[in-house]
Amino acid sequence: MPASADFQQRLESRLESIAEYFGTPFHIYDEKGIRETCTAVRAAFGGIEGFQEYFAVKALPNPAVMTIMREMGFGFDCSSIAELRLSRKLGAREGEIMFTSANTSQEEYLEAAADGGCILNLDDTSFVDKVPQMPELICFRYNPGDRRTGNHIIGNPVEAKYGVAHDQIVEAYRHAIERGASRFGLHTMLASNERHYSYMVETAQMLLAMVEWISGELGIRFEFVNIGGGLGIPYKPDDEALDLTAMGSEITAAFDAFRAKHGYVPKMFMESGRYMTGPHGMLVTRAINRKEIYRTYVGVDACMSSLMRPGMYGAYHHITVPGRTGDIEIVDVAGSLCENNDKFAIQRELPRTYDGDLLCIHDTGAHGIAMGFNYNGKLRPQELLLREDGSVELIRRAERLEDYFATLSFEAKVMPGVG
Ligand SMILES: *Cc1c(COP(=O)(O)O)cnc(C)c1O
Repeated sequence: MPASADFQQRLESRLESIAEYFGTPFHIYDEKGIRETCTAVRAAFGGIEGFQEYFAVKALPNPAVMTIMREMGFGFDCSSIAELRLSRKLGAREGEIMFTSANTSQEEYLEAAADGGCILNLDDTSFVDKVPQMPELICFRYNPGDRRTGNHIIGNPVEAKYGVAHDQIVEAYRHAIERGASRFGLHTMLASNERHYSYMVETAQMLLAMVEWISGELGIRFEFVNIGGGLGIPYKPDDEALDLTAMGSEITAAFDAFRAKHGYVPKMFMESGRYMTGPHGMLVTRAINRKEIYRTYVGVDACMSSLMRPGMYGAYHHITVPGRTGDIEIVDVAGSLCENNDKFAIQRELPRTYDGDLLCIHDTGAHGIAMGFNYNGKLRPQELLLREDGSVELIRRAERLEDYFATLSFEAKVMPGVG
């Protein structure tokens, strides 16, 4: 099921007045739904001491939403200077931030080390020497290669650019110890939009087995394992939801077994993005043109600058048209970009729509506006938050032309030619 019936009902009953008040298009997020998911995640892993979710900021980098995550007790998973700044601006410090980056520059490592630092998750053995200063607590991202089959979206680990290879991992920790590390974590991220919970259970089991092996080789203990993000959500009406409760209880059992055998157990961390906010966002856009050529097109006032998942991955986003239940027809829902993959839906069954109708594009709460871009001079839309008390708050204004032109104001700089 895409957006919950509860969110749809609360939104659709007031949609026209919200659209008139703020104008279209906009992404709107549901505070109530986000908090409920946070509570469900806490409950599912509550049996694991020290469980912590680090919200993957890249999924929805808006301070208002990040504040909700913080109020629910979660930390932040960052991979850029901007994400670190956002997190720290909200007061997150040290162990509340996980920095999981790839091909990381010195500038990024310096930012990560500022303000008391954060948990560094290194993506390659070479970074042991490249980090300006080795922190006490260090984590490596592990890539199991052909020891695991890839999840269908993220692909095969052997072909993935991420992480330290199996044969390098013990040496990676040994080298970090030489440089002064004395506390350890182990991370992996093997899936994306995975709705089969057993894949995540196998990942947790794999990490615990790795911890057992590396600990034995080096005589060290691990403080945490981080199973990454990648928990999936049902985008299509007949997709089954991930069974969070079963995932929680089977992973808890794996941690209990580790404790029974070793007398201690690492904490478990997770850095989920999509699962936390994805279903709790909608892109609302107005139909502004109907075109009948070889196909019927519903032209809307949003384009790929608001949501590029359909164009980029052929991703399905459910669409509803509140108030229209009439004749079903087959249409493409298209934006204004000069790019034929600027379509929110292709050959989709929708009720007959008319100019002026509002279309709700579901599940845009993660990797939605965050992936937006300015190709063709198209600007990114505003973001709204539907509060638990029913008020609706602007939490990011729409981009304006002066934002688009900002990088064209600069001091002249010309390097003379030779000769
Ligand atoms: C993208 C990403 C996440 C979040 O992924 P979701 O699929 O949104 O859960 C977490 N960790 C890392 C390292 C990532 O790159």
